[in-house]
Amino acid sequence: MINVFQPALGDQELAAVREVFESGWIGRGERTRAFEEAFAKHLGVGGDHVTSLNSCTEALFLAMELLEVGPGCDVVLPTVSWVGAANAVAARGARPVFCDVDPRTLNATADDVVAALTPRTRAVIVLHYGGYPGEVAAIAEVCRERGIALVEDAACAVASRVDGEACGTFGDIGVWSFDAMKIVVAGDGGMLYARDPVLVARATKLAYLGLEQVSGFDSARRGAYRWWEIDVSSFSRRSITNDLAAAIGHVQLGRLGEFVSRRRAIAEHYDRELADVPGLHCPPPLPAGHESSYYLYWVQLDGGIRDAVARRLYERGIYTTFRYPLLHRVPAYRAGSPLPRAEWAAQATLCIPLHQGLDDGAVERVVTELRAAVLDGGR
Ligand SMILES: *Cc1c(COP(=O)(O)O)cnc(C)c1O
Repeated sequence: MINVFQPALGDQELAAVREVFESGWIGRGERTRAFEEAFAKHLGVGGDHVTSLNSCTEALFLAMELLEVGPGCDVVLPTVSWVGAANAVAARGARPVFCDVDPRTLNATADDVVAALTPRTRAVIVLHYGGYPGEVAAIAEVCRERGIALVEDAACAVASRVDGEACGTFGDIGVWSFDAMKIVVAGDGGMLYARDPVLVARATKLAYLGLEQVSGFDSARRGAYRWWEIDVSSFSRRSITNDLAAAIGHVQLGRLGEFVSRRRAIAEHYDRELADVPGLHCPPPLPAGHESSYYLYWVQLDGGIRDAVARRLYERGIYTTFRYPLLHRVPAYRAGSPLPRAEWAAQATLCIPLHQGLDDGAVERVVTELRAAVLDGGR
């Protein structure tokens, strides 16, 4: 089976894990801090702007807490979003308000966001579909002008940039994922960036039960008499990551450039080989100054044949998928007016295999099978 997503893990990651084993400490420690520092450097920000977590979903939940989103607040997000983003809003007693998306890029445009704003909008959460930055700079401007917080779910955009500026750093808070299906994997893991280091410090405290004193060792060093005593400043959960995951993530981050160039080469190959298939549309070209992480490659099929094509490819050993199912169609979130461009995209779009482990033979097989399936109308 050719997978849509697949991590590339090898000897370097194994060696890093071995080192953690041998250190005698696998919990949150020096390696976690080193990974945070490396990630901050990758983003081009100071180390006090990021903190690591056990998942990106947890980072989204924390983001809503940090921004004091609560009952009576609206949060605007594209209907093509990670369900955890809407859950993070709803869990605070706030209302998710879904906006439409550009039908080709599946990213919300600045106009889509503006059209969904209400007097009660406290925050906007956007993602970068498939790694395409989208109109994130314009959306950041819209939010700044109106005093609305912007959260970037940069889970698809670990290497995406606009004019050299990292996606995830355009708004107030950015979040990333290192789960098993992402480009940089750590088993599980997340990262949170905030423009305001005070929010990062608060997030770090909230990620460990809301304890004032997070390390007994530190207080012992400071000469505290009873270093095991605690104080709870907020009633929070436990969302920290550990040195095992961080060690893997750190190695993977070092390989990110290599991963993205292989992914770009595959995407460009698909662009070339699929451009002339009638009724098939490749992703639009990236605007000048935009860099993608090439997390997803998506094709759009005319004539209502998407599902049939997906089934036929599956039968021939090629897995495909659609990200992300429309949230305004999920029973719990069903609300508001129709969002016609997203609805068109959701029935036409198919994400095909794209990962750094695909060899040329597999890429060729995807091209051949997809061309044939579309030309046969999915039959
Ligand atoms: C994978 C993903 C997430 C969730 O990440 P986890 O670390 O698994 O919680 C959030 N947003 C987007 C856009 C994703 O693709």
